[in-house]
Amino acid sequence: MDDLVFAAPPQVVAPVKGGGQFPVRRIYCVGRNYAAHAREMGHDPNAEPPFFFAKPADALMTHGADVPYPTMTEDLHHEIELVAAIGTGGRDISVDAARQHVWGYATGIDLTRRDLQAWAKKATKPWEVAKGFDHSAPMGELARAADVAWPLSGAITLTVNGETRQSGDLEQMTWDLPHVIAELSRYFELCPGDLIFTGTPSGVGAVVRGDRLEGSIAGIGTVTATIA
Ligand code: MN
Repeated sequence: MDDLVFAAPPQVVAPVKGGGQFPVRRIYCVGRNYAAHAREMGHDPNAEPPFFFAKPADALMTHGADVPYPTMTEDLHHEIELVAAIGTGGRDISVDAARQHVWGYATGIDLTRRDLQAWAKKATKPWEVAKGFDHSAPMGELARAADVAWPLSGAITLTVNGETRQSGDLEQMTWDLPHVIAELSRYFELCPGDLIFTGTPSGVGAVVRGDRLEGSIAGIGTVTATIA
């Protein structure tokens, strides 16, 4: 297109393990998808189907990047999460077919302005300022689905400055990945390039400037981020 009134923003890409770049279209996230985390946030884990929110694609931070401490918060929290990358789109995807739509997996961190989220919940306001802020989605390299086991179980951990903060297992998800994909595809047509952050185990907490976050999912990979 040569009639753009200014240069288009660059395509957001996610590095792929072994080479290549995955073009990112959207970032979807699942809320409260581990029972123990739902309980620590004051909710009944059995009371609700999966629910979704989103971050802008350009909130993605690639592996090892410095994350600037965001404005307008005094309570920045980490949430370690399995990320599924969609390679084949679709709507109304069945649970049984969900696996065929996944291109790969990564380990990500859903950074959250927890104080603004608490305000939004109380005031029944949208979550965007709590979840969809700049630099709010650090993510490690994508592993091709063909190269890893179907991740329905496996250790998921996060350390801050070497100290374990979150330690869970993917099998603790209330809604496993096929159910998440199926349900999300009833609300949105999924397309190649979509990323899905699938929720966090318990142990979320605050980070401060200078903290080094290291996340890991067995068989998938790692993510690191330093709060600058
Ligand atoms: Mn989350």
